[in-house]
Amino acid sequence: MIRSPEEMKPVLHTMREDLLGKVDVLKATQALDGTGYTNHQADDATQAFDQAQDLSLYNSSQKQLRLVEDALAKLEQGTYGLCDRCGKAIDLARLEAIPYTPLCLSCAEARDYHQR
Ligand SMILES: [Zn+2]
Repeated sequence: MIRSPEEMKPVLHTMREDLLGKVDVLKATQALDGTGYTNHQADDATQAFDQAQDLSLYNSSQKQLRLVEDALAKLEQGTYGLCDRCGKAIDLARLEAIPYTPLCLSCAEARDYHQR
């Protein structure tokens, strides 16, 4: 259990490194793919499926990377650990579980509810 939001800094840095690496690899895969089609129908289908998988992984990695970078920027500004929506301190247990979350639990739940 962490005692202050700042303790998540090294975790966020590690996450950022991991995500940057992942995004790079996926970007390279995307660039290599789509250069041509084989004559085999099955291969094309498999390839299309792989590409779709890679693309959704790429998009979710990019999204997560943005949240991690936002969190790191907030650490610099001293606003990390405060909810983007209501400004209250985010529960430390929640920060430990999801270090890049910009919202406290009740705001996240409210947002999820409204998105439905
Ligand atoms: Zn909130």
